[in-house]
Amino acid sequence: PSNRTTLIAGNWKMNNDREEAKALASALVEALPEVPAGVEVCVCPPTIDLCCVSHKLDGSAVKLGAQNVYFEAKGAYTGETSVAMLKSVPVQYCIIGHSERRDYFHETDEDQNKKAAALIAGGIVPIFCCGEPLEVREAGTYVEHVVAQVKAGLTGLQVTDPSQLVVAYEPIWAIGTGKTATADDAQEVCGAVREVLAEIFGAELADGIRVLYGGSAKPGNIAELVAKPDVDGALVGGASLVAEDFASMVVKA
Ligand code: PEP
Repeated sequence: PSNRTTLIAGNWKMNNDREEAKALASALVEALPEVPAGVEVCVCPPTIDLCCVSHKLDGSAVKLGAQNVYFEAKGAYTGETSVAMLKSVPVQYCIIGHSERRDYFHETDEDQNKKAAALIAGGIVPIFCCGEPLEVREAGTYVEHVVAQVKAGLTGLQVTDPSQLVVAYEPIWAIGTGKTATADDAQEVCGAVREVLAEIFGAELADGIRVLYGGSAKPGNIAELVAKPDVDGALVGGASLVAEDFASMVVKA
């Protein structure tokens, strides 16, 4: 909301083979011949399908993002993908620090800081994820938890324009569970994220940086979420795999 462009970003995770990825991209382009003013859309397919999806999205209003990146420029890092490789596809956004990467692949806050710096230097917008597990939510220390993640992940970055960075608040207990945080819960933490962004980057930049909510966002709750003053869109998992659902979220945002 406010003067910020709403961003609806789809995280396909490890789903779809090549033909399915191409079909989903085509269905989405068909369902979204145009995107409402003030809204931006992107999809983040698996790395192996970035090129074929890029061809399908060519000339459409749907932008392309990656799900992960490595921070080193090149060399002996078997299985990894550099910023320059993503840029050459071309990719405009890249999710970093998703809770699945942090939990299953042991990625640290320090890794996120290096990834964010490399992406920004290379002209790709990081979608930096943060969020608390259920036990932290229940203990009541979730704001402190998220603020610490944002500080560790984003301090020291060379951000000169607010469009260079996106943050996604994703409470882990709401991811893939069907259990959405209420719009008020989302606002509370997204507002706290904006405050810590102001500490790090200054109030003016922080006012322009998009802060998304993620966690079981769907057509039925997107309007209520983005109506909140500090919720500037959504990072969408499950619902981004169904073209009609994802398109309908874009229209309702
Ligand atoms: C996610 O993992 O980024 C996500 C928001 O997933 P879902 O929408 O399926 O909860």
